Amino acid sequence: MKRLILAGGGHAHLAVLRALAKCRLRAVDVMLVTPEPMLIYSGMLPGWMAGHYRLDQCFIDLRPLAQAAGVRLILAPLAGLDAERRCIALPNGAQLEYDLLSLDVGSETDVSWLHSARERLLPIRPLSDFVKAWEKIVDRARRHTGYRLAVVGGGAAGVELAFAAHHAFIRHGTTAQVDLVASGPELLAGHAPAVVSRVERLLAERGIVLHRARAAGTEDGLMLANGQRLPANRIIAATGARAPYWLTLSKLALDAAGYVEVDATQRSRSHANVFAAGDVCSREDVILARSGVHAVQAGPVLAHNLRATLEGGAMHPYIPRACPLYLIATGPKHAIASWGGWSAEGAWVWHWKDWIDRRFIRLHGAPHASMGPPIQQRESQHEHEHH
Ligand SMILES: Cc1cc2nc3c(=O)[nH]c(=O)nc-3n(C[C@H](O)[C@H](O)[C@H](O)COP(=O)(O)OP(=O)(O)OC[C@H]3O[C@@H](n4cnc5c(N)ncnc54)[C@H](O)[C@@H]3O)c2cc1C
Repeated sequence: MKRLILAGGGHAHLAVLRALAKCRLRAVDVMLVTPEPMLIYSGMLPGWMAGHYRLDQCFIDLRPLAQAAGVRLILAPLAGLDAERRCIALPNGAQLEYDLLSLDVGSETDVSWLHSARERLLPIRPLSDFVKAWEKIVDRARRHTGYRLAVVGGGAAGVELAFAAHHAFIRHGTTAQVDLVASGPELLAGHAPAVVSRVERLLAERGIVLHRARAAGTEDGLMLANGQRLPANRIIAATGARAPYWLTLSKLALDAAGYVEVDATQRSRSHANVFAAGDVCSREDVILARSGVHAVQAGPVLAHNLRATLEGGAMHPYIPRACPLYLIATGPKHAIASWGGWSAEGAWVWHWKDWIDRRFIRLHGAPHASMGPPIQQRESQHEHEHH
């Protein structure tokens, strides 16, 4: 019996679970090791904050997917990985050996500049912690006149979060102020100037103040690189991705930023029995943005290549589309479309995004389980796995 470990219940592994539900692997024990039973779909998170969705409409329950795929679900995060010894470590010290490993653990939020803001700071990841904290923010903003929320991060996520927060505050009848701090080199890097202009115009119309400056956390909010103090009751950090630290000890080939280096087949450059997809990896042949689009689209290729490694067959490359479509929600039922040099906006763009997002959730929702009760274990049940 060979052992395949799927580490992380991320977007790419959804396709792997679906493929396994259609056709199981022969004589392979498959495990999914991930901390939460739910995958929160980030594309709908701003819509949930803005009040367009219930939370249960924005997540995918991994349990029935694992059950239908005949995959054991272990609810624990990886704490470490030793690619030479072919094993992963869990926080309780348990070690699990593998023949084949697939990493789809996503990325972390880089809050290194904001640490001094301490309890005011709310990183966007893990999304499950963010979701719990957001409802408290709305509650505080309702009770506290002059409440100020700062969103740090000038990428699409930061922009969407600022718009969504502002819309939520209005819906709840608060007068809370939202500041967006684009702390990177530019606002919406990689998007066409027309998209940036649309966002700037809408921010101004809504009264969201845009600051184009690097920000550092302070005890009462933020200090901007231009010397301006920006007091904030809470600071949402959407400051870009950072690779998980435990990868540095993994012995896998990593790029300069600490991400797992993979080839076009999503296979590790250094270890042929390790694959990685989504935010956690960097392709050696092409520079890809860390976005859900690539995690989702690499999924079927990853599923195929894992099977080919175990059962034989040709490997397939993941060929990213030259120009992915981004739909940026702007608070109310309105969104901006960005596709290469082309852009558009309106309620119809929001309905288009809503259709795509709901279809994604429907497609990856629970299939009809074909087997007994879910095989689900907490990490403490794995004492026998100690080596
Ligand atoms: C607010 C927001 C909006 C966004 N909107 C879009 C959008 O509209 N379009 C787009 O393309 N991208 C969007 N993104 C980016 C997108 O969320 C990520 O690029 C995408 O989630 C990456 O997918 P992934 O599978 O690599 O990781 P994730 O989706 O983050 O999944 C990682 C999984 O691994 C688990 N995990 C974490 N740590 C461990 C560990 N140590 N061990 C085991 N498991 C672990 C997590 O619980 C999770 O299940 C948005 C991001 C944010 C924050």
